[in-house]
Amino acid sequence: MAALLLLTTAAAAPSAAPAPFALPTVSPARATTPAPSGWSWPLAPRPAVLRPFDPPDKPWLSGHRGVDLGSASDGGPVTAPESGTVSFVGVVVDRPVITIDHGNGLRSSFEPVRSTLKKGASVAKGAVVGTLLAGHCGSSPCVHWGVRRGEEYLNPLSFILDLRPSVLLPLN
Ligand SMILES: [Zn+2]
Repeated sequence: MAALLLLTTAAAAPSAAPAPFALPTVSPARATTPAPSGWSWPLAPRPAVLRPFDPPDKPWLSGHRGVDLGSASDGGPVTAPESGTVSFVGVVVDRPVITIDHGNGLRSSFEPVRSTLKKGASVAKGAVVGTLLAGHCGSSPCVHWGVRRGEEYLNPLSFILDLRPSVLLPLN
């Protein structure tokens, strides 16, 4: 009996495959998709998403680290989706950018947006943070909105909409 158990154990040990009774692992996509946080759209009326969030698999690859939201026209106001503190205002390469630190490690960046706000300024949710300039989506007016937690780029829309896959949970 003991020998049989040992044999069974030895046979099973080299296998790295999950046991049939293992709990399902949470996929990275689910783990990093937060519940919506009640943020507001940075453009009004509710903008169309001209280009979705498409993060690269590796940091050095190209991708789209934010969403492009269509605007009725260039020169319109861009508003804070959540309250925070201006952590950066300036030009990155050739694009005017404003970054708002929302706390909890979350930062929103908008471009191309010209702002008269200064670093350290407090902004309320819905407050105008700058003026949309032309250029990011060719001839279509749009604002590029990126959200980072630390250095990880997140889908900005997940803070407004519920993007979590619907999951059937067991009834306990
Ligand atoms: Zn973009």
